[in-house]
Order: sequence, then C-alpha cells, then structure tokens
Amino acid sequence: MIKREQESRIVGQLLTLMDGNKKLSKKLPHVVVVASTNRVDAIDPALRRPGRFDSEIEVTVPTVEERLQILKLYSKNLHLDENVDLQIIAGWCNGYVGADLEALCREAARLAYRRLSNSSEDGKVLTLLMEDWESARSQIKASMIRGVTKEAPTVSWDDIGGLKDLKKKLQQAVEWPIKHAAAFARLGISPVRGVLLHGPPGCSKTTLAKAAAHAAQASFFSLSGAELYSKYVGEGEALLRRTFQRARLSSPSIIFFDEADAIAPKRTGPSGDSGNATVGERLLSTLLTEMDGLELATGIIVLAATNRPKAIDAALLRPGRFDMVLYVPPPDAQGRHEILRIHTRKMKLGEDVDLGEIAERTELFTGADLEGLCREAGMAALREDLSASSIHKAHFEAAIRSLRPSLTKTEVDEDAAAAIHGPARKN
Ligand code: ATP
Repeated sequence: MIKREQESRIVGQLLTLMDGNKKLSKKLPHVVVVASTNRVDAIDPALRRPGRFDSEIEVTVPTVEERLQILKLYSKNLHLDENVDLQIIAGWCNGYVGADLEALCREAARLAYRRLSNSSEDGKVLTLLMEDWESARSQIKASMIRGVTKEAPTVSWDDIGGLKDLKKKLQQAVEWPIKHAAAFARLGISPVRGVLLHGPPGCSKTTLAKAAAHAAQASFFSLSGAELYSKYVGEGEALLRRTFQRARLSSPSIIFFDEADAIAPKRTGPSGDSGNATVGERLLSTLLTEMDGLELATGIIVLAATNRPKAIDAALLRPGRFDMVLYVPPPDAQGRHEILRIHTRKMKLGEDVDLGEIAERTELFTGADLEGLCREAGMAALREDLSASSIHKAHFEAAIRSLRPSLTKTEVDEDAAAAIHGPARKN
C-alpha cells in the first residue's frame, strides 16, 4: 500500500516535471527525456502519450546482419583463423542478443586459450578456430529463449528415414518461407502459418518438427499439452502468450505443440454459457487469438503434432491457422531399411547382418520401435559376451523375437482413413 502511494506520487511528480519541461523549453535549451524498459506494458499509461513520452522505439533482437556486425565488433581484437566465417556463426545465433554474442566471443576466446595452454608448442599465437566457436555455441545459449525452450534441435533431415515426399513438403512449407523470405515477399506469397502433423505415435512427428527448425536455423519453442495444463488458473494461457511473444522477438521461429489434441480439444456445446470455460477452452481461445495475431508477424511458423486429429477443434484447422495438414504414416519397407541404417550408423555390425531383410520382416514397426530393436540387438550381443566386438544376425533375430510392433493393422488402416478426411488444404 505504502509502495503504491509512493509510486503514484513519483508518477505524478514526473508528469508535472515533463509537462513543465514543455513550457521551460521555449526559453531554455531543449531537454529530451529518454527512458528505457524491458516491461513496457508495466508503465503508467499517463506517461505514454503525446507531450510526454511522444515516441516509442522498440529495440528488437538483432537480425542476422546485425549479429554479424556485433560479432565483428567484439572479435576485432581477437586473432581469427582464416577458416572462421563470422557470417556462418551469425547464422547459427538466431535469437541471440548483443550480450549473448559478447559472451559467445568471450567463451570462444577462453576455449582457444585453454587449447593453447594445453598444447606443448611454445610461442604460438592465440588463434580462434571454427571448432572453438562451435563449442562456445553449445555453452552459450540465447538468453531470450531460456525458460521457454529446451535444447536447440540438432537433428537434420538425414536423420529421418523414409518419408521423402513429406520431408519435401515440410521443407517447402517451413524452411523456404524462412530461408527465402525475400522471394516470398517479391512474389507476394503469404506463407503457410501452421502445419498439423498427425499419425501414429513414434513415427517421427516430433523429429520432423525439430529437423525443420534445425534446417531453417530458426529458434525452436516446444510446448506440450502437459506443460500447459497448470493447476493455477491462467498460468497455461500466460505461458502460451509468453511463448508467442518470445517467438516474435527472436524470429525466425518455429513453435511446436506436441499432443495438440490436449491443447486445442474440441469444444463441447456452446461455450461460455456457464461463464466457466474449461482449461482446454481457455487455452484454445488464447491459441486462436495468438495465431490470428501472427498475420502481422513474419518468420513464425506453428507446427503441431497429434495422434488424434479428430479430437482437435475445427476452428484451429481453418485456413489462416493450421492450413496444412500432413499425415505421417508408419514407415514402409524402404523407410524401415533407411531407419535401421540410421540407427545402426554408430554400431559395429557383423557381415551377416542384412538390414534390408530385417526391414522386410518388421512390418508395423514404427521408427521408435526400430530404434529400440537396434538397441536391443546391441544389448543381446553384450549379454552374450561383454567383450563382443560386433553385433550379428543372431542378435537381431533375438531382438525381433523379444519385441512386438506398437501398431496393429486396424489402427494403421483407421489412421490412414482419417487422413483422407483430413480438413483444410490437403497437400
Ligand atoms: P509421439 O506421437 O509419441 O510423440 P512422434 O511421432 O512424435 O511420437 P518421435 O518422438 O519423433 O515420434 O520419434 C520417436 C523416436 O523414434 C525418435 O527418437 C526417433 O529417433 C525415432 N524415429 C521415429 N521415426 C523415425 C524415422 N523415420 N527415422 C529415424 N528415426 C525415427
């Protein structure tokens, strides 16, 4: 209470002084009042009007060009190896503010110094290599996305087996508008705002969204239904709004909703009758408002994944919201072969292992099942002999016998049928 009174007295005093400043400035040299804040909405509206703080300048997160300039500035006294390309480093640092970039330069220099002091060669100059920047980047994250996102994705399109056409569609819908924004603007094409991925669990929906973010070098914000359901009223909506706000600030960004059916469930009956909207309804209306607000923003694409597309509210599937709906099917034999190849890349396989044959025999196995199968084959080899040097056909056989596919034929057929009736634009 005392604090409130004090605050309003200070605001009152500031208003009087600023109004007085106008009269004074006719006789005296002009006085300009400059104020800065990172919580603009917390400022008393009386101060934010012409005659007082007349103009407001929003200092946004630096663009890639600006990041390059900042990096040049902070590394001007550092000796960079000729392979170091600051333009590439600036490209990696989406969402980084000036302070983050300064910390990145400091960290890269520290790592180079450590490397130099560990080496036995004397009299070498401290030179920053591209590796130092790469390691520094894994240590220093964008402060803007702290608390709303987890690790920046590192999966690439090559880490996903099969789904060739789907990957191409996602590249065009998600990667192109971000990477070739100028071409879209030149032709006046408005990019897709939201993409809904649906299909059985474990078939790489999340991995696809991460790969898209990684390929587009976009900030990745991921929210799941469970995170948004809070026991405190309004907390989930606040997290949703905060995520969109941060995504706007650090664009290009991708916002990914896992378990979208929990975030935007079908509304039952006329809402608002009891004046008591459920958490799901409140989250949905916040999401709709935020997605409509994206019309003015560029470089933000919303991706969502669900196993139950029919449980999602139809309002979300209208054009302008999730206007692209893609079915992520379970892998076919060729896809399974590629997935097995990906997940055995780092494994020592015996010559008798035929991944193509295993792929033929694992119908109804999802990508996640196949990943588990490779792990299980490795474990079988270890169980047999802890000093084993490679994994053989027999170990894969044992793994196939011990595992069951997580899908059933009926489920797959039902899902595929639902995909045909998918809403909005089919691509
Ligand atoms: P859920 O609906 O349960 O969230 P999901 O469809 O989002 O599942 P992911 O989380 O992307 O599935 O995949 C689970 C695991 O399976 C990942 O670790 C991924 O490596 C592996 N996986 C799934 N599909 C593929 C694929 N096509 N290629 C390579 N790995 C795959």
